[in-house]
Amino acid sequence: LKALFPEDILKTSKDLTEGEVKFLKQLNDLLEEKYRSSINDHWVNATVPEDFFEDMGKLNYFHNPLLFEGREGEKTPSQLFQFFMSYVIARFDVSLVTLLGVHQGLGHNSFLFGGSKEQIAYYLPKLQTHELRTCFALTEPEHGSDVAGGLETTAKRDGDKWIINGAKKWIGGANVADVIPLYAVDVDTGKPKGFIIRPEQEGVEIDVIENKIALRIIPNTNIKLTNVEVKEEDRLQNINGFKDIAKILYSTRAGVAYMATGAMAGALRATLDYVTERKQFGKEISKYQLIQEKLAMMQGNLAQAMATCAQLARMQAKGEYDEVATSAAKMMNALRLRESVAMGRGITGGNGILAEYDIARFFSDAEAVYTYEGTHEINALLIGRALTGDSAFI
Ligand code: FAD
Repeated sequence: LKALFPEDILKTSKDLTEGEVKFLKQLNDLLEEKYRSSINDHWVNATVPEDFFEDMGKLNYFHNPLLFEGREGEKTPSQLFQFFMSYVIARFDVSLVTLLGVHQGLGHNSFLFGGSKEQIAYYLPKLQTHELRTCFALTEPEHGSDVAGGLETTAKRDGDKWIINGAKKWIGGANVADVIPLYAVDVDTGKPKGFIIRPEQEGVEIDVIENKIALRIIPNTNIKLTNVEVKEEDRLQNINGFKDIAKILYSTRAGVAYMATGAMAGALRATLDYVTERKQFGKEISKYQLIQEKLAMMQGNLAQAMATCAQLARMQAKGEYDEVATSAAKMMNALRLRESVAMGRGITGGNGILAEYDIARFFSDAEAVYTYEGTHEINALLIGRALTGDSAFI
């Protein structure tokens, strides 16, 4: 365990089972041995490593049976294990964990929470074995933080089908998805509903957003919808208002806190590797006190974030989902991630802005983590509302 997580100074990983540790080691070895040498090139070229999804499937990453063994007193799936699965991948690369997270989290849970019994029975096994790939299409060009009341994409009922018109922005992996859960406002009731869209459908245009400075490996897309026809049977039957969509968002917000924590560990590693190699004034810069203070801050931030995630995971495994705790974890871990990557970037000097030194990738990717799944401000407003009883959104 110490070899796998030397940075885990508060021993948050000690409750992992032997089987879980074995799996995490295999996952880590695969990433290091197969993908380490090319990951920065993929980031620069904005390409997904070719075999990545296949390899994750072979390793049984999706719907891993260990998740469902559970620990005493816990309901399954095991959140602690989930935390460390995300952590190990995020420590390696944040785009890759985001790509998996969009499929497994927001996408999968759109069907789990939004689907009818029949839809769940049909789609879940296929999503869990990765036979079908999915994503999550909520944000629009003009509506991000205010999607709750602001969606402009419309759905008009026409007999046994719906006609969808509008546009979505930022949708991760829609270009490689088989089924896209997409949210649009029912023009007759004014309430948002969920629809299962297929990329090849008439009227659906998907293009990849170019020139991102963060998460370059994950393709984010614009989706344009022009008179797209969706059968009533392809409407997610249990999405009947924004509160149903919010449930999906809350279910995965902890996952972003997990990813932010893994990214902090990745930044710490990249920085440690550098300071022990780089010499100035005749000795390795790791020997200087001002450098060590920053490394200590990065380690301290990471330890706090790991402890937060482990406790959140414990609560969630007992079925305790708390909106404030989850928002606080996402908000603070993303904030600390931003602080840590900036210190790492500073310590690595000029080389720290070159893509071949991993820190540049973590530095840039932190910006996306800071913004998605509720920006810093939106999570702060959710917490503020709970503390004061006053909603300050508008
Ligand atoms: P805006 O909402 O325009 O916010 C701009 C700024 O204003 C922010 O700082 C915000 O905090 C602040 N602000 C807004 N309202 C208030 C207020 N009331 N008080 C104080 N400050 C406020 N969406 C999907 O649906 N699916 C995806 O797969 C997906 N993937 C993404 C991947 C990446 C890399 C990124 C960057 C985004 C992704 N998103 C996705 C969208 C993401 O959820 C939004 O970017 C996010 O919700 C913020 O919306 P916005 O970018 O439109 O910013």
